[in-house]
Amino acid sequence: MPYKTLLFFCSLFFLMACKSEAQKKSTFKIQKSDAEWKMELTDLEYYVMRKEGTEPAFSSPLDKNYSSGTYVCKGCESPLFLSSHKFNSGSGWPSFDREIKGNVAFSVDYKMGIARTEEQCASCGAHLGHVFNDGPKKTTGKRHCINGIALKFIPKK
Ligand SMILES: [Zn+2]
Repeated sequence: MPYKTLLFFCSLFFLMACKSEAQKKSTFKIQKSDAEWKMELTDLEYYVMRKEGTEPAFSSPLDKNYSSGTYVCKGCESPLFLSSHKFNSGSGWPSFDREIKGNVAFSVDYKMGIARTEEQCASCGAHLGHVFNDGPKKTTGKRHCINGIALKFIPKK
């Protein structure tokens, strides 16, 4: 590939990366500073939800929770997943075959060197986990692999 063409694609990629970073920050209704989140969350919650970390597998009590209810965002209490969409993936993380439409935002991240679809709370931008295509074939085929620590479970009354 000629040098100039290469340079063109590099700058294009750079511009797109900047743009998506800017979009990521500006589209969330709930905006709080880093210091505010740090005060409200525990160290592990902050690491997972605000720094795109991952909780240790099999560490969340919600992984094996199959009671009826709603899973809301720990940062802002927006409803994200329903118990009826939860399944046992055996991965060690709470898994769902779908999200509550409109309440979860999706974007592509390249952190592991491959493209993965990241999920964030659409209201406050909290990192939730990733979506994979090895979910239950009978329903959506999707596996929303979610950090339990980013969720709060509200049992059905
Ligand atoms: Zn949230």
